[in-house]
Amino acid sequence: MDKYDDLVAGSGISGMTMALLLAKAGRKVLLIEKQPVIGGCMRRFKRKEIPFDTGFHFTGGFGGLLSDMLRALGMEEDIRPEFLDNPKTNRIYLENSNSMYEMPSGSDAVGRELKKHFPEECEAIDKYLQLENDIERRTPFMDLNKLNSEELFFLMQHIDEDSVSLQEYLDSITSNTKLQTILGNAALCYGSPPAVMPLSMHCRVAVGMRKSLARVVGGGDAFIKSFKRQAGELGIDIMTNTEISDIVQRRGKTVNAVKLSNGTTCYFENCILAIHPREIISLLPEDVVPASTRQAIEEYEESFSFFSLFATIQTDYPVPCALTSYLTHDNLNEIISPGSDACAMAILTGVEVVGNNKVNVLCAFENEFPGEANRWKNVVCRKNDDSYQEYKKRRAEAMIKKIEKVYPEYAGKINVLSTSSTLTFNEYLPPLGSAYGIMHKVGEQGLFGRLPVRNFYAIGQSALMPGILGAMLSSFIVGRYLLGRNFLSV
Ligand SMILES: Cc1cc2nc3c(=O)[nH]c(=O)nc-3n(C[C@H](O)[C@H](O)[C@H](O)COP(=O)(O)OP(=O)(O)OC[C@H]3O[C@@H](n4cnc5c(N)ncnc54)[C@H](O)[C@@H]3O)c2cc1C
Repeated sequence: MDKYDDLVAGSGISGMTMALLLAKAGRKVLLIEKQPVIGGCMRRFKRKEIPFDTGFHFTGGFGGLLSDMLRALGMEEDIRPEFLDNPKTNRIYLENSNSMYEMPSGSDAVGRELKKHFPEECEAIDKYLQLENDIERRTPFMDLNKLNSEELFFLMQHIDEDSVSLQEYLDSITSNTKLQTILGNAALCYGSPPAVMPLSMHCRVAVGMRKSLARVVGGGDAFIKSFKRQAGELGIDIMTNTEISDIVQRRGKTVNAVKLSNGTTCYFENCILAIHPREIISLLPEDVVPASTRQAIEEYEESFSFFSLFATIQTDYPVPCALTSYLTHDNLNEIISPGSDACAMAILTGVEVVGNNKVNVLCAFENEFPGEANRWKNVVCRKNDDSYQEYKKRRAEAMIKKIEKVYPEYAGKINVLSTSSTLTFNEYLPPLGSAYGIMHKVGEQGLFGRLPVRNFYAIGQSALMPGILGAMLSSFIVGRYLLGRNFLSV
């Protein structure tokens, strides 16, 4: 039997953030994780000693919200950015028109660049870029000072752009589909089509990346290492291979003890669930959750998954830290649509230090809704299944062809070390393997904050906003709720 102030379930970036915030406030915290190791989408894996990121690759927010959150968590020293600040290192390629667009850092620079390509669209470009900044300014929860000091109702108030879709807005400023695709390209970092994505949410995700896009030295592992160091100092208990298996003490709508899958009974004041909403709902007692909430959660649509390729690049010079978004069509709604032939691929390059050597690495992710690989779902050992291996080989070859089109300098120099299909995502991103959790939609609320069980709370990428910034921010907001005003002694 263990007694804690707070039980946090799920050790992705939102669970780690939550555990740190609570422990820093002097609370006794237990963090449980279903998998054998902690980190969720921040985890890396190695092939031939070379580390690759499985989920998180780059982020905005350095010098802004992310830096503020890292400072508040005591992680600032451990998380070092490597900026993609050369215009040629952040690009969008539209295959159907064979056109490449460079995306420099900062709204003004992006505006200037886009106006060269679309001189007749200056007004639309200015209007959109101004709106991104404006929405950030009008979102109090994206400012940690306000989050620390203002009333909750002020922090979470709705704005008009919550009820307008990105597509409606883009249609209102321009009919140029290429420009619409470029302005909406952040959709590939959250997986909801512009036709349903709230304009406000899109701008909140896009604005940080517009100002500064960066990789993190050491990738997702840098966050995990920093967390582990502090967890030790703060006395956070961590149990892996562990999940909640049963509720053992309940008074009305409050649950104060659960049985864990390792046999322990855990008593707590609060339980914070940093996991997928469908996993959350399966844990709550049926009679407490209104049928309408249950139905709303059942109807959530999942964002897409990926076919991924991990490789080295054999050049005798270090490759730049770079991102190219390769879109087969200039229609994001089609790209983010199950069953569509249109797709997008993110191609990331950079250098990893392996012992005393520097190695050029390339990761590429092609979006896909689970389906194409499903015929191998029940194959016991996919590694030994010829048809599955043939499928992966064919996909990888097609991806390399595309990569070489936008990086001709790497032609013949890409050495694939690993590939993974959507089936891999199914296994490590429970329950459905979507990369960004649920799609965020106009008029649909994510499962966020206080739950029908009164001392249970939902956080994570499906709760408020996708990506690591959104996942971390959901923990800060619930932290503010649980710990009260001035909870950050920043
Ligand atoms: C391929 C890919 C690329 C991405 N690229 C980027 C990027 O470049 N930039 C960016 O900002 N974001 C990116 N993302 C998204 C980003 O990684 C996520 O938004 C974020 O990391 C999600 O964090 P989380 O804590 O909400 O969830 P997760 O990281 O999914 O963590 C949830 C954890 O809970 C565990 N769990 C599940 N059920 C239970 C249970 N019942 N009990 C206990 N534990 C449980 C899981 O095993 C997991 O460890 C990417 C995602 C993917 C998949």
